[in-house]
Amino acid sequence: MAELKNKDYNVSEDGFYGEFGGAWIPEILYSNVENLKKAYLGILEDPQFQKEFHALLKDYAGRPSPLYHAQRLSEKYGCRIFLKREDLNHTGAHKINNTIGQILLAKRMGKTRIIAETGAGQHGVATATVCALMNMNCIVYMGKTDVERQKLNVRKMEMLGAKVVAVTSGNMTLKDATNEAIRDWCCNPSDTHYIIGSTVGPHPYPDMVARLQSVISKEIKWQLQEKTGRDYPEYLVACVGGGSNAAGTIYEYLNDLRVKIVLAEAAGDGIDSGRSAATIQLGTVGIIHGAKTLLMQTEDGQIEEPYSISAGLDYPGIGPMHANLARTGRSEVLAVDDKEAVEAAFELTRLEGIIPALESAHALGIFRKKQFKPDDNVVVCLSGRGDKDMETYIKYFDSKI
Ligand SMILES: *Cc1c(COP(=O)(O)O)cnc(C)c1O
Repeated sequence: MAELKNKDYNVSEDGFYGEFGGAWIPEILYSNVENLKKAYLGILEDPQFQKEFHALLKDYAGRPSPLYHAQRLSEKYGCRIFLKREDLNHTGAHKINNTIGQILLAKRMGKTRIIAETGAGQHGVATATVCALMNMNCIVYMGKTDVERQKLNVRKMEMLGAKVVAVTSGNMTLKDATNEAIRDWCCNPSDTHYIIGSTVGPHPYPDMVARLQSVISKEIKWQLQEKTGRDYPEYLVACVGGGSNAAGTIYEYLNDLRVKIVLAEAAGDGIDSGRSAATIQLGTVGIIHGAKTLLMQTEDGQIEEPYSISAGLDYPGIGPMHANLARTGRSEVLAVDDKEAVEAAFELTRLEGIIPALESAHALGIFRKKQFKPDDNVVVCLSGRGDKDMETYIKYFDSKI
């Protein structure tokens, strides 16, 4: 592995994080991606864009999200734990930060039609929400299997005015929905913007989504200053599906080596069980969704279907930023299995009165695996709320009594 010379963990000019990233796309998408690449930084840094973006984050999404010192959880694990409450955002997770940003960008690029892919439906709902807000045409691709599993989110998207297309190719899950969205984009390059839901896909998406989510760490900075008299913690903790809530949580601290980064990926039934989504520990280098990264694949390069109890974490790849952070040792990645995550969810609920999303429960699961010191400030991104996961929690609860 080549050592990074300047220890800069941000994206390079040509779209790489170390050896990972880039834009590996079919010829027909070249001009779409190139136009986006030329436009995104100028738009994101434009003061008028920033003004509109932050106004919506504040009045529509409900930011800043609180940084909450979880005292009883802290006592239990012998350190100072702060929860970054992304669960309190409109639509229940951090995903709205990204979709608000991208819909504003799409408008500025003169687009009138929005497409998105979704697995469990959370990103689909966040996209349909901002499309309703901005009166934009919205088409969401979703594997047929997921459509059947996630009826409530499908209904929400439809109520919001989106068209949900059930994809029947392959395993009829997220990977197939993504292929279909890419196919659509190829056919409708001029009027359509593709809102990708995580720090994945061809450059510039991973960087663009990370920048839009970086509001999370910008807030953590001043909130920690207020609460601890210092604007950085010893540790930042987040779960990683594609990597967007994690990227947002660490963005402002990427090159600040006083801050250690601990990430949780989903071990499903266990790392060695053959049923997991532990992409960083089990993945090998390949290309998925237009990026070179670590992914779960067979020896002949077929993408393996990932598994996790949490629908938001069972993505077969990982954002290129996180592949690089893990490979260079900047982040420590722990695999948390289904059982550990569910137990962590019940623990948080009973100690703090907060029912977390199953994804966020994986981040909380690291406290079972790693010791901290009493003086350590540990900021955990509580990426979403648990309403959507109640059926799973109920099943688990009923099996215990
Ligand atoms: C979608 C989702 C995730 C995983 O996506 P990332 O891009 O890795 O953040 C995590 N938590 C919640 C609540 C989600 O909805």
